[in-house]
Amino acid sequence: MAFNLNDLKERFDQARTKTNQAKLFISTSDQLISKINNPMLTIVEDTFQEGRHDLQKGMCSRKRFELVAKGLAKRVFAEGIDPNPKTPEEIPDHGCFENLTEALKPWNIAPEDIPSPFNIFQTMRIDPESGRMFDTLIRPKNEAHVDFRAEMDCLVALSACPESGRGGPVRVEIFEESRVPWRNFKRASLKDF
Ligand SMILES: [Zn+2]
Repeated sequence: MAFNLNDLKERFDQARTKTNQAKLFISTSDQLISKINNPMLTIVEDTFQEGRHDLQKGMCSRKRFELVAKGLAKRVFAEGIDPNPKTPEEIPDHGCFENLTEALKPWNIAPEDIPSPFNIFQTMRIDPESGRMFDTLIRPKNEAHVDFRAEMDCLVALSACPESGRGGPVRVEIFEESRVPWRNFKRASLKDF
């Protein structure tokens, strides 16, 4: 998720991102749009071949796991099996929501102000008639990446989804514009999560 670094109240918005581009799935050349309708990030390269990125879901959390386990919220897998934990003892004490809440504390962003994210590599199957959403276990088979160009100064937060213990690591590389004429961008930092 992204915030305007100079005005943290302006943040990524799933609805405007979908509506402005009239589609549910975004990829290369599409943009992530803010709540007040400004482009925040442009996808300049997307090598995920096996599936699509998601713009429907919120994010996993301890509470969401509990609600599903109690039958108070739904989750349906396209493969027909739900590999997520069911008992209170098995349910993880944190998910992406807790990760992001912690990560955004230094910027005084309250948990209730955290927007629904752009879920990279989270392939959903959506029935075109009923609108029913199915989780899938489709993820990149080999290493894949998505490159973004920042259209404003952004605070970007991410969570490598624990996926109830099935989640894999992610690497973030930040590039800055370079003055070297034969190369437009140089790597400024690299971090593994
Ligand atoms: Zn998650």
